[in-house]
Amino acid sequence: MIGNFMNPPEPSNGQAYTQKDYKTGILWVCCPHCGKRQFPLSDGARIENQEFQCKGSNCKKLFLVNYNQMHL
Ligand SMILES: [Zn+2]
Repeated sequence: MIGNFMNPPEPSNGQAYTQKDYKTGILWVCCPHCGKRQFPLSDGARIENQEFQCKGSNCKKLFLVNYNQMHL
């Protein structure tokens, strides 16, 4: 029975956030755990519940990305 559920304990906490670079105007996805920039978002990008692993060598945690420009 134990081990059937591998979901992380903090579903709302593990969500990435986006941050705009005002020099370049590029929107970046950032790790919610350490804040490291992960990858830029293209115009019109849509990402739903996609899991990524942080690129930070001291972090490497998993986070979820939800991005839909239609919400703006
Ligand atoms: Zn991280």
